[in-house]
Amino acid sequence: MVSTAEATWRVAVDRQACIGTGVCAGSAPEQIEIRDGKAAALRPEVGPSDALLDAAEMCPMAAITVTDVATGRVLAPEE
Ligand code: SF4
Repeated sequence: MVSTAEATWRVAVDRQACIGTGVCAGSAPEQIEIRDGKAAALRPEVGPSDALLDAAEMCPMAAITVTDVATGRVLAPEE
């Protein structure tokens, strides 16, 4: 059963681009962790989260992309 009450966001981390600052995990510890020195999403899909948007915006390498699953729209980082 798929709930339509709340949007689903996809979290993608480009581990090639990530330089392991940990800024993202500090901002969004419920969605992102540092694993083997680089950021990794705890789950590929999550509910809406301002903390996650902040993490994607703060990444100096723009290595985190947050996308709305239903629309495919990139929510962060903003271009
Ligand atoms: S903020 Fe960006 S560069 Fe730093 S650990 Fe997270 S994904 Fe990697």
